[in-house]
This record gives sequence, structure tokens and C-alpha cells, in this order.
Amino acid sequence: MSESRDHLVYRSKLPTSFVLSCIAAPPRASRPPFANRARRFTKGCFVSDEKHHRFLQVAIGEARKGLDSGGIPIGSVLVIDGEIVGRGHNQRVQKESAILHAEMDALENAGRLTASEYQRSVLYSTLSPCDMCSGTALLYRIPRIVIGENRTFRGPEDYLRSRGVELILLDDQECIDLMTQFVKDKPGLWNEDIGV
Ligand SMILES: [Zn+2]
Repeated sequence: MSESRDHLVYRSKLPTSFVLSCIAAPPRASRPPFANRARRFTKGCFVSDEKHHRFLQVAIGEARKGLDSGGIPIGSVLVIDGEIVGRGHNQRVQKESAILHAEMDALENAGRLTASEYQRSVLYSTLSPCDMCSGTALLYRIPRIVIGENRTFRGPEDYLRSRGVELILLDDQECIDLMTQFVKDKPGLWNEDIGV
């Protein structure tokens, strides 16, 4: 695990004593061994991360919808006050769109929102947002982005952090598998989507 991932894991508002008790507690025998500490935290201790996983599952559903319709398997949801207000998936193939990445599609489907609504929203994406989607999040001052994975592609995460955006990386195996398989199957389409 890289230092940056450790940094994300420790970005919890839970009391230090509780966090330490989670670290000290051995995983239950009935559970499979944790692949890394981030997963151990998210599944074992942090209630708020359970909520993130729930919304990520909806984003994964969008990604699969995109894959099933011949597109790129990346999904996204926009959440305000615990409710999904927009969802979408990459539309490069389906709508011949150069700009409807999953995050843009979710924002588009959320329709017009006020500045204060954006400023208390959370953007979920199965993949680390690219320059375009990150820029849109900055434009609307979306304060928090939850990322399914950043192993197959990593957007300008450090820049987002430097601009005050909180990033939460879930390092989700299903997201990793979806993109790994897709990049293997259709490298040309993937390169087209990220301008390579
Ligand atoms: Zn994008």
C-alpha cells in the first residue's frame, strides 16, 4: 500500500482511540483475510465507509449497464444529503459523445442544481476522475469525491487535494476487475476515451 492510500485511510473523523482499537482487533476467523488495510477498515470499522460502498454499488451498476450496451464500464452517482440525485455511465459509444464520461453523465442527469446543493454533494465514481471530470467538480465546488479504484487510471488526484477536495479511495476489487478486463478487451476504445 502506498503512503497516499494510508493517508486516505487515516482521514477519519472517528476518535483516535476507536481507530486504534480497530487496528488492534484481529479479523474474525469467519471473514476472508483482508487484502489490505483500507479494506479492513472499510468493512470492519467505519460505518461511514459502509455508506460509501452502498453508493459505489449503484455506480458499479451503472458501469455494468454501460458495458452491457457496448460501452466503457465506468459509472457514477451524485449524492446530496444521503440521496442520489443523479446517476450515469460513460456514453462515448452509446451517444457518440466525447464529453459524457460517467461523472459528466451523472451531473448532466442531475440537471440544474444550485451552488449550495453542489457544495454539499458527494460525487462517486468507479474510476479516478480524469482532468475533465475533476475540472467540473472544481467548477461546482463539489467538496468530496469517492473513488472506486485508481489502479487502472489515475486522474489529477493531488491537484484536487491541493484545491481542497477530499478524496476517499475505496480500492474496490469489482471496479478494478471491470476496468482491467475492459482495457484488455478494448484497448483502442479505452485510449480514445482518455486521449491517448
Ligand atoms: Zn472523465
